Amino acid sequence: MNDGSRGAWLPRLSAAFKFGLIATCLSLAGGVRAEQAFSFDTTPGKLPKTAVPTHYAIELAPDLQALTAAGSEVIDIEVREVTWHLQLNAANLAISEAAIDDGAQRAEIALDAQAETATLTFPTALAKGPHRLRLVFAAKINAFGRGIFFADYPTGAGSKRMISTQLEPADARRIFPCWDEPVFKATFALTVTVPQNFLAVSNMPVAQEEPLADGKKRVVFPPTPKMSSYLFVLSAGELERITADANGVTVGIVATSGNAEKGRFALENAVRLLDYYNDYFGSKYPLPKLDLIAVPGGFGGAMENWGGITFFESRLLFDPATSSDSARRRIFSVLAHEMAHQWFGDLVTTAWWDNLWLNEGFASWMQEKAAEHFYPQWETWLNGYSQKQTALALDARRTSHPIQQPVADHSVAMTAFDPITYNKGQAFIRMLENYLGENAFRDGIRTYMAAHAYGNATTADLWQALEHATGKPVAPIAASFTEQEGVPLVIAETTCDGDAQRLSLKQERFTIIPSQANATLPSLHWQVPVTIGAVSATEPQKILLDGSAEVPAGKCGEAVKVNFGDIGYYRVDYGSNLRAALTRQLARMTPEDRVNFLGDDWAMVQAGRAAPSSYFVLVDALGASDHRAVWDQVVSNFGALDRLARERAEQPALETYARARLRPVFDRLGWDGSGAGDDDDTLLRSSLIWTLGDLRDPDILGEARRRFAFFLKDPKSLAPSLLDPVSHVVGVSAGREDYDALLSLARKSTATNERVRYYHAAASARDAALAGDTLALTLTHELPSTIVNGLINEVALSGWQRELAWDFIRSNLDALTARQGPDFPHEFVPNFMTNFSDEAHADALRQFAPAQQTLGGRVMTARALESIAIAADLKARALPAIDAWIKAHPVRP
Ligand SMILES: [Zn+2]
Repeated sequence: MNDGSRGAWLPRLSAAFKFGLIATCLSLAGGVRAEQAFSFDTTPGKLPKTAVPTHYAIELAPDLQALTAAGSEVIDIEVREVTWHLQLNAANLAISEAAIDDGAQRAEIALDAQAETATLTFPTALAKGPHRLRLVFAAKINAFGRGIFFADYPTGAGSKRMISTQLEPADARRIFPCWDEPVFKATFALTVTVPQNFLAVSNMPVAQEEPLADGKKRVVFPPTPKMSSYLFVLSAGELERITADANGVTVGIVATSGNAEKGRFALENAVRLLDYYNDYFGSKYPLPKLDLIAVPGGFGGAMENWGGITFFESRLLFDPATSSDSARRRIFSVLAHEMAHQWFGDLVTTAWWDNLWLNEGFASWMQEKAAEHFYPQWETWLNGYSQKQTALALDARRTSHPIQQPVADHSVAMTAFDPITYNKGQAFIRMLENYLGENAFRDGIRTYMAAHAYGNATTADLWQALEHATGKPVAPIAASFTEQEGVPLVIAETTCDGDAQRLSLKQERFTIIPSQANATLPSLHWQVPVTIGAVSATEPQKILLDGSAEVPAGKCGEAVKVNFGDIGYYRVDYGSNLRAALTRQLARMTPEDRVNFLGDDWAMVQAGRAAPSSYFVLVDALGASDHRAVWDQVVSNFGALDRLARERAEQPALETYARARLRPVFDRLGWDGSGAGDDDDTLLRSSLIWTLGDLRDPDILGEARRRFAFFLKDPKSLAPSLLDPVSHVVGVSAGREDYDALLSLARKSTATNERVRYYHAAASARDAALAGDTLALTLTHELPSTIVNGLINEVALSGWQRELAWDFIRSNLDALTARQGPDFPHEFVPNFMTNFSDEAHADALRQFAPAQQTLGGRVMTARALESIAIAADLKARALPAIDAWIKAHPVRP
C-alpha cells in the first residue's frame, strides 16, 4: 500500500540468481473493505444483546432407551438494559418452566421452531444488573450427529449404546436453552445422571460422583473457563480411559471398553503437541485435562470441544494389526488440527461465523506445521499439495466466496465449512508466514493470544497483532485474499535482449467458467507475494506484485520458475518461451516445483487457456521413480478423467493409455514392500493398486483377487498396508460370492476402521444387483448413520451405478432424512449430484425442491450446478482432444 511496505518485502537476493525489481505501483485492491476490530455490540448475530449469560449450571438425565434427556439449568445473566423479554436459543426442546430470581417471576414461553429461539416474557420488567434464570426442559437424543446423539456399536458381548455431542456451529440449543452464538461466552458447570457402569466425560475433570438408588449415579463437573456454547461436550458410555501427564495436564484417551490402548500413538503425540503448542502460542493450555474421545461410528470427523475433543474412532485409534502404518499420518494430522483449536478457536474464538476461517484456516495450517516439526520425513506440505489445489479449483468459480464472508444464518454457516474456508485459509496463512518470517509471525500470534484470551476476535485483530509484532503492513495484502473471493493469475514470460533475459509478470483474475455460460467474472486485484527463481536456485527472490513488473532474469533461455517452492496462493500461466524452457528442465526441478508446474498446467487446461495435450506431454516426461506427490497428482487426474469418460466409446483407449503410464511406476514398487508408514512408497503403492483396479488393469485385478482369497483363509497373509486397496479392487470387480465375503468381514468386525473398509469395498461393486443390495442396506440399522452417505456416494462413484443411487435417494428421501438428519436433502443431495456431468441431471437438481428450502441449500445447489456445468464443458472440450492425442501416441496395451 505504500512504498515502505514494499521496501520491507524487497528481495533477499540469492547468490545464484539475482534480479532487480521494478514493480508498478497501484492502489490497494478496489472494493476491499477493511474489517473492524472486535466489539461485542457490533458483532453480527441473531440474538438481541440486551442480556448476556455469565454462568450455566446444567443438570441432565439422559434416558438411552427413550432417547430423551430431562434437564434443568440455572443461568446467571447480566441484563444490560431494562427489558420484559429474554430471547435465547432452543431447538427441538420442550421447555416446561422458566422463572427468574428464585421464582420471583414466571415467564411466558414462546418457542419459534424456525428461528430456533425461545422468547421469555415476564410480567414485570427486569432491571439492569445480575439476575438468575431457571429453566426446566427436555431434549431429544438424536440418531444423527447433531446436538446430543446416540451411537450403537457392536462388541464381543453384543450391541452397546453410548451418547455423545456435536454442537458446532449451532447445536448446543438442541441440548439446553442457551445463548448459542460464539460471542456469548460463559462458564458451564454440568451435572449428569448416567448408569453406574458408565464413564461420563465432559470439558472438565469429574469433581464428584455420587451413587443413586436405581443403578445410576450423579456425576458432577466443575465450571469450565469462559467459553462459547458450541465447545460444550458430553460423552458417556461403557468407556475406558488411559492417561499420561503433560507437565501437570492430564491427557487422556477415552474409548469403548477394551480399545483405549489403541490410542497409545495419539496419546504420546498429544503430550508432545501440548508442549509444542504451549511454547508456540506463548500461553499455557489452561484446563487441567485434555481428553481425546473415540466415538465408534459416531459422527463424521473430529471436533475441538475444549478439554474433550471427540473423534470418529478411526481418526484416533490405531491398531497395527488392522490399520496401515501410514494411518498414523492422518491421525497425527487430525490430532494436531484439533489441538491447535484449543487455542485458536477455544481460548480465542471467532466472534461470528463470518470469521470461521480464522479458526479453521489457522488450525489447518498448524496441523501441517506441527507435522513438519515432528515428522519431517512425511514431507507434509509436499504430500499435502492437493489441499491447496482443491481450494484453487473451487475459488476460480463463480460460486466461490471470500474466506471472510457474511453469514446470514446457520444453514449458511454450515456451507462455510468447505475447502475454501479451510484450505485457502491454510494456504494464505502459509504464504503470509513466509512473507513475514517464521519468528516474527509467531511473535504476532503470541501477542494475539495474550490480548484476546477467553474472549473473541476478528480477522482485523489478528492483522493488528501481526503488524505490531513485525512492523510490516499486513492488512493491505491480507484483505485482498481474505475479503474478496478469487484466485490471482500471474502471467509470466521471458524475452531476450542479446544474451540477457528479462521476465515480465502481470496479474489477472484466474477463472474457470464453462464455455456454454458465455460469461466473465468481474476483474479483481491483489497484492501478490510472488517468489521466482532459476530451477537450480536454492533461495527464491520475492516480489510483491501489485499490477505488473519486469525484472532481469539471468541469461537468455534460462528457465525461471514462478511460485518457487509451491508456497504462494496463485496460478501461473507461462508464455511459450518460458514454458518450453521449464519443460526442458522438468527433471531438475524440486518435486514441489514439479507438482506446482503440473497443477498450474492442468488448471490452464480446465480454464481453456491451454490445450489438453500440454498436460499429457508433461506426464510423458516424468520418470517412473518420481516423488509420490508428483505421481499422486497424475493418478488423481487420470481417475477424474476416467470417471468423466464413462459411457463413452473412447473410454477403453483412455484407460489403456492411463494404465500404460502408471504401470511402470507400480512395477518399480512391486506388491510387497516394507509397509512402513514413513515410507512414501507404501502410500504410492496403495494408491496405484486402487486406481489401476479402477482402470481395470487385468494383472492388478488378478493378483488382488488371488491375495484376497488367501487372506480369507489366513488373515495374516495380507500386509495391513494392502488391506484397503486390495479390498477395494475386489469390491470393484465383485461377483455375488466376493460381495458376500466383503459383507461378512464387515459384519464380523467390531472395529470402525475395518467396518468402514469392507462396507465401502462392497459398495464399490459395479454389478447393478449388488449395488441395489448395498443401497437397501443403508436403510437398515446394521449401519451407523455416519457411513451411510459415504456408501451411497461410493455406489455412484466407484460402483458406476449413479443412476440407480439417484433413483434410490428420491424414492427413499423421507426415510433417509429421518436417519441422516435434516441436512440430508440440502447438503448431501447437491453434493451427490456432482457425480453427474450432464444437463438433464443439472435440471433434475434444479427441480429438486427439498434442496431449495434453506438459504444454505440454495448455496449448495448453486455450487453443485456449477460443478456439473464445468465437468460437462471439460467433457465436451477436452475429452475429444485427449482421444485424438492418445490415438496419435499409441501405447502398448
Ligand atoms: Zn477445525
